[in-house]
Amino acid sequence: MLRCDKKMVVLLLGAPGAGKGTIANFLEKEYGFFHLATGQLFRQITKQNSVLANKIKKIINAGKLVNDTLTNKLVKNNLVGKKAENIVLDGYPRNVMQAKYLNKFCKIDYVFDLCVKENIIIKRIIGRRICPICQTIYNIYYKKPKQWNHCNFDHHILIKRDDDTIQTIKLRLQEYKKFNQPLVTYYQKKGIYKKITLMGKRLITQIEKILKL
Ligand SMILES: [Zn+2]
Repeated sequence: MLRCDKKMVVLLLGAPGAGKGTIANFLEKEYGFFHLATGQLFRQITKQNSVLANKIKKIINAGKLVNDTLTNKLVKNNLVGKKAENIVLDGYPRNVMQAKYLNKFCKIDYVFDLCVKENIIIKRIIGRRICPICQTIYNIYYKKPKQWNHCNFDHHILIKRDDDTIQTIKLRLQEYKKFNQPLVTYYQKKGIYKKITLMGKRLITQIEKILKL
């Protein structure tokens, strides 16, 4: 069996806007984790000029999800071969089929399920701004940059994702609920599932404590 040769593999579950990206970015910047975000991966591909790019662009703009076969293939290509590095998976797997696929070549150590109320999630997504250079995430309600609409680190103008609209968010939340519960059950049975309800600084502290960082 093919295996990822990692020190630690952490998987983040949670609705869109639950804070997976923030936690993953933190682990990447502070502790050098390799951060694999499928959403980011898809958006990178859409910038290319190819049949695959157009296909993915159409799916994302309609608020739909990229199919399992394509997602699995892209994730595996990005994971296998990266040795001796801690890994954080953000946005993958999002259903049991993907989880079973991942299980064939990668052993997961921790599964954190970030549980946040839906009204907070909607505000987080609507207010989200991202630096296209360093990928730092800001929010016009919760985490404002020092200078309006500019990144704190490289002063680049922040952008809003095309798919961060109220209509697509509601669709994404619906899709998410449909597939998440079986995934929770799947990881509970494996004994590596942990529900997390804290937010902000306390959430970070809790995760550091569990991972013994
Ligand atoms: Zn930046």
